[in-house]
Amino acid sequence: TFMANLPPTAELQQKDAAHHLHPFTDTADLNAKGARVISRAEGVYLWDTEGNKMLDGMAGLWCVNVGYGRHEIIDAATRQMQQLPYYNTFFQTSHPPVIALAEKLAQLAPDHINHVFFAGSGSEANDTVVRMVRHYWASQGKPDKKVIISRKNGYHGSTMAGASLGGMSFMHAQGGLPIPDITHIDQPHWYKEGGDMSPEEFGLARARALEEEIDRLGEDKVAAFIAEPIQGAGGVVIPPETYWPEIQRICDEREILLIADEVICGFGRTGQWFGSQTYNIKPDLMPIAKGLSSGYLPIGGVLVSDRVAEGFIADGGEFAHGYTYSGHPVACAAALTNLEILEQENIVSDVASRAAPYLAEKWGQLGDHPLIGQARSKGLVGAIELTPDKAARAPFAVEAGTAGLICREHCFATGLVMRHVGDTMIISPPLVISNEEIDELVEKAGRCLDLTL
Ligand code: PLP
Repeated sequence: TFMANLPPTAELQQKDAAHHLHPFTDTADLNAKGARVISRAEGVYLWDTEGNKMLDGMAGLWCVNVGYGRHEIIDAATRQMQQLPYYNTFFQTSHPPVIALAEKLAQLAPDHINHVFFAGSGSEANDTVVRMVRHYWASQGKPDKKVIISRKNGYHGSTMAGASLGGMSFMHAQGGLPIPDITHIDQPHWYKEGGDMSPEEFGLARARALEEEIDRLGEDKVAAFIAEPIQGAGGVVIPPETYWPEIQRICDEREILLIADEVICGFGRTGQWFGSQTYNIKPDLMPIAKGLSSGYLPIGGVLVSDRVAEGFIADGGEFAHGYTYSGHPVACAAALTNLEILEQENIVSDVASRAAPYLAEKWGQLGDHPLIGQARSKGLVGAIELTPDKAARAPFAVEAGTAGLICREHCFATGLVMRHVGDTMIISPPLVISNEEIDELVEKAGRCLDLTL
């Protein structure tokens, strides 16, 4: 078999250390330990080259929504590769898979969204967003409406524009970010920043920070507000219910486009097709990626409202932007098949009616653990906050993230993949996870916590 032909793990690790620079990794630290080499997956499980089996509580990187080993996607991609492995969509050309996927996305998206611009990833989607909203306002005779307001601790990708939209200060510190005309307001993270306010009061206060920022900058200078419906990489920050309605009110009253970054929330994660439907908001633009193809091939894009698309189309002229792999035929074929699986197996409605309530009940019980200050989930994303002092909702006073890191190490030993963001442990399992597998996930997470104590 393919597995049997692999060199020994130590040799793979040594070559990896010698030549491979990993993303978001302290290379010296990794090379001292050796990377865990993942070589196979099926359903919600991963295997490494040592034969260890792990439940993938992160669906890869928040993306393998339909689970691993879906032969329909593999077959569709193979057929497309044989038929037409590559062609571009730049020079007055198109091809069947990109046309079919664009039509499917227009059908799945909310009624006011009927256009899509394709990219290769979520980061590229957000670079597209920055250029597209400025192009739109210029086409409306308002070239000064350029500033995009974003949020601290948001994540929108790693390209220059993506990382600038993002509010990760440790990313801004490397490489002179953010780029001009992007500002950041505070996040609606009640557990960490809510103090004595109720979640409802705090949600309103953090939404009104947008209005204050628009006033500070001047409405004629502000192009858009961007946010993730639920902040993922920042630690699964589920906003109080008061937050999004107030943001929508502000965007409606001011001449500001609303951008919902659906890269994680899109395609069923929150129990609806899009996180913006879960929060009942009406975005002008929605960057997408990850669950669009369940990660089987790289693809991203921006779903564009009729108002924005028709606005700049009517103005004429070219949107001088595009990627060699915009609408890659094989990625489109894989994505289309992935969407068909989500539809045919009713996976999105199953998240809402079965998996999400079941996870909420079981995961919520971790809140009783002595180490846990809060256990929260929405749809199929969840977080637990490690704390030495439940009442104070304080993180550990030791070096940021230490307890989280220790907990994560125990996850490896326990056979569960969770991620840590400082002292927050997060999960985002495949949407097809069964109730028995949710039991296993929560039981293993509990064991990690016992070992961390
Ligand atoms: N936007 C959000 C909300 C994300 O979570 C991510 C990745 O985690 C991105 C954008 C960037 O996507 P990519 O890593 O595909 O470039």
